Amino acid sequence: MLEQAQRVLKDIFGYDSFRGRQGAIIECVAKGGDALVLMPTGGGKSLCFQVPALLRPGLAVVVSPLIALMEDQVATLDELGVAAASLNSTLSAEQQRELAGRIRRGEVKMLYLAPERLVQPRMLDFLRTLDIALFAIDEAHCVSQWGHDFRPEYLQLGQLAELFPQVPRIALTATADMRTREEIVTRLHLQNAERFLSSFDRPNIFYRIVPKEQPRKQLLAFLTERRGNAGIVYCLSRKKVDDVAAYLCDQGFPALPYHAGLPAETRASNQRRFLNEEGLIMVATIAFGMGIDKPNVRFVAHLDLPKSLEAYYQETGRAGRDGLPADAWMAYGLQDMVMLKQMLQNSEGDERHKRIEQHKLDAMLALCEETRCRRQILLNYFDEELPQPCGHCDNCIDGVQTWDATEPARQALSAVYRTGQRYGVGHLVDVLLGRDNEKIRNFGHEKLAVYGVGKARSEGEWRSLFRQLVARGLADIDLEGYGGLRLSDSCRPLLRGEVSLELRRDLKPQTSSKSSGSGGSPASQLVRGEEREQWEALRALRRKLAEEHGVPPYVIFPDSTLLEMLRSQPGSLSEMAQVSGVGARKLERYGAAFLDVLGGAAEAPPQVADLRHELTSLARAGMTPAQIAGQLNCSEKNVYSLLAEAIGRQQLSLEQALDLPEDLLAEVQDAFLDGEGELPPVSAIAEQFGGRVPEGVLYCVRAALAAEFEM
Ligand code: ADP
Ligand code: ZN
Repeated sequence: MLEQAQRVLKDIFGYDSFRGRQGAIIECVAKGGDALVLMPTGGGKSLCFQVPALLRPGLAVVVSPLIALMEDQVATLDELGVAAASLNSTLSAEQQRELAGRIRRGEVKMLYLAPERLVQPRMLDFLRTLDIALFAIDEAHCVSQWGHDFRPEYLQLGQLAELFPQVPRIALTATADMRTREEIVTRLHLQNAERFLSSFDRPNIFYRIVPKEQPRKQLLAFLTERRGNAGIVYCLSRKKVDDVAAYLCDQGFPALPYHAGLPAETRASNQRRFLNEEGLIMVATIAFGMGIDKPNVRFVAHLDLPKSLEAYYQETGRAGRDGLPADAWMAYGLQDMVMLKQMLQNSEGDERHKRIEQHKLDAMLALCEETRCRRQILLNYFDEELPQPCGHCDNCIDGVQTWDATEPARQALSAVYRTGQRYGVGHLVDVLLGRDNEKIRNFGHEKLAVYGVGKARSEGEWRSLFRQLVARGLADIDLEGYGGLRLSDSCRPLLRGEVSLELRRDLKPQTSSKSSGSGGSPASQLVRGEEREQWEALRALRRKLAEEHGVPPYVIFPDSTLLEMLRSQPGSLSEMAQVSGVGARKLERYGAAFLDVLGGAAEAPPQVADLRHELTSLARAGMTPAQIAGQLNCSEKNVYSLLAEAIGRQQLSLEQALDLPEDLLAEVQDAFLDGEGELPPVSAIAEQFGGRVPEGVLYCVRAALAAEFEM
């Protein structure tokens, strides 16, 4: 089974090996078992149901929550030569009837549909008349009432277990928390499913969190290093989205806004442009997210703090789905905390709910002020242990300096107390620095003992200190009043001198362009200067093909495949077939065009020896004899005789050379082996298969038998 799966992987998808637990998952489902798959974004979940779908007879039914996701996958499968279709509300009644006809005739291998459609009685009745290969339930966390992607229709999918007891079901999600996991099992009746839990680490993402000083300048510096790359900039409010998008455009960056307040057409059009064009920056609220399957999002930047680590993980996770280096960057400051705490305070929901949300926010704040490896902390939150610091986050790379802040923290808290626990950080810092202004004099704060005691430190240091005091819960924000600071109960031991306090020393804000801090060029700058020209040429060709086919560029080839072409410089189709992501169909369609760009197109007709070599490689890559003939510009008859030769020399297996139904193959083999003694010549049995099997096939089968029995 695994061997067949491997062949499908190579022939159809063009990949050499399974990733992580893909092999085990595919084996489980292909054999008819149920599976629950928890795998991070970019882990390769799609293959986990697409490969078994191709291995099992019948129609595979894939449930997906969004039309955008369905269409993306259908387009991708279409390019791979797999018959897939999506049944959704954009189809006319006529188109739906036509599709049903194709399904009935067995012309469709994978059918994507929304949950509400699947559970319609008419649909279920229709499916029960068919042979079903499997049910795949993608984005299975939509069944969870606690998550923000909840879709009530998902709850009804539980009935599939009773209606189709013989059909394997596979549920997939990238949501990491336990509670959702258990909910999926109960709601979807997957108690007997084998569970496949992958690590949720996203090793290709570089995490960086910086103190917010001049956010726009900081963002600009970050983006300048990543010019030409696609990315998402998340902001909390719609207004800020509009402002930042306009600002970036002003600064010469191709930015688009996205939030729920925009007209539906604008949103749809901006989303489409983001997917189809290269190097666009989407400035968005969290309304932009699910359904964004674009694999080459090279960075996710947060200008505002997410409200939990779950949200942070999910949002940053949209970067680098293709496995290539990507950046997660965030600027965060005291104002973020004030905003989020205020939102939390004003939100609906009971006290218990608010308390849970508060804890989640605290965990997020703790990550921001963390002095240890960010990845270790993040994974730990999801109950996963990373034994060593990752070496691929700001804290690991830059090292974190801490300092003994016990005394200044007491001065700061004392300033809060002496001024009556009602002022914001700006005023408190003025008091500590001994500044002379109207507000100070109006309230008589120049007479306080703490006035001017902090002159030895800069304003920035004091602000950083206040931020960390709040993040650690040593001071509270007064949410009823004007957002001033108050003492919290937990600061007493510090004030009484019973404990000391170590704080993080903020690095200088990074607004100059040579300061990525990740050792020279940013993680997400994929190609080196000297490669750029060819890289752009490859991308231009991909763009042209994508436009011709009406699909996003990454559906033609993902960046990882283009990058491998660039680095390995294939000089022939057979070398091209070795590139990961180049399956038989794409090799046939696009191989020559990309070779042309690489300058490796064959000018002179190939020599016979080359031809043999080329042919073997193409056959191994999964091309059919007809495809090979087209590719090498020679007759099919020639191809068959060269194939038979290669089989005879045991350079190719019969399965690699031909694509013959098993029963037909058995019939041909029987015909050869029927007589006594020597294998009969092809001419002796050709008549028996007249018209049904090309003569070339008979030569190949005979060659295989001869090689096997050494006759
Ligand atoms: P997920 O749905 O888990 O986010 P995808 O199924 O979209 O991930 O896969 C992410 C990317 O990785 C896709 O471009 C996919 O083609 C690629 N991929 C998946 N499995 C493999 C593999 N075994 N070898 C190489 N690339 C793979
Ligand atoms: Zn680290």
